[in-house]
Amino acid sequence: MSLNYPAPIQRLIVQLKSLPGVGPRSAERMALWLLSAGRERGGLLADALRAIETEVVMCEDCGFYNEAGQACLLCSNDKRQRHIVCVVEQAADVLRLERSRAYQGQYHVLGGKLSPLDNVTPEDLRMDSLERRVAELPASEVILALGSDVEGEATANYIADLVRPLGVAVTKLAQGMPAGGGLDHVDELTLHHALQGRRAMS
Ligand SMILES: [Zn+2]
Repeated sequence: MSLNYPAPIQRLIVQLKSLPGVGPRSAERMALWLLSAGRERGGLLADALRAIETEVVMCEDCGFYNEAGQACLLCSNDKRQRHIVCVVEQAADVLRLERSRAYQGQYHVLGGKLSPLDNVTPEDLRMDSLERRVAELPASEVILALGSDVEGEATANYIADLVRPLGVAVTKLAQGMPAGGGLDHVDELTLHHALQGRRAMS
């Protein structure tokens, strides 16, 4: 039998390796660092991980995160327009658009994008709640602020077909969006222009 780390360390490495962007070697390095950094450092990390389980909830309407027991800062803000919903892939995109200061409506976080290769189907995304929300608000415009890669386009087309029967205008971000990228590659000014110059989905 070849030598390996004790089982608890192996389990930690497996968990770290499952994080996005972390390969086996970085996972091993992090695990060893945590071991050498002492009990307190690891404890802080463990506390932070436990806290996101117990102290954070996802808003059932928009899909953004809030502290447990508090109203959603986005949905419950009555200064925000209610007739317009901006659909994004991930919660981080909400913050990017907020920083661009070009938008004062509602958001809807999908939680990803359609990707047959990764087995991501409409059922894996927050499509049902989008449909329900557009009808309930009711919204007159849905802005698709999705990436311009193949999956982003496919997701945009799917949503356009989903919500158009509800009688809403469907628009998407305009010029300046880089080909093949998500919102995380775009600076705030470009996002501002892209929102202002949004155009109807063909
Ligand atoms: Zn919300």
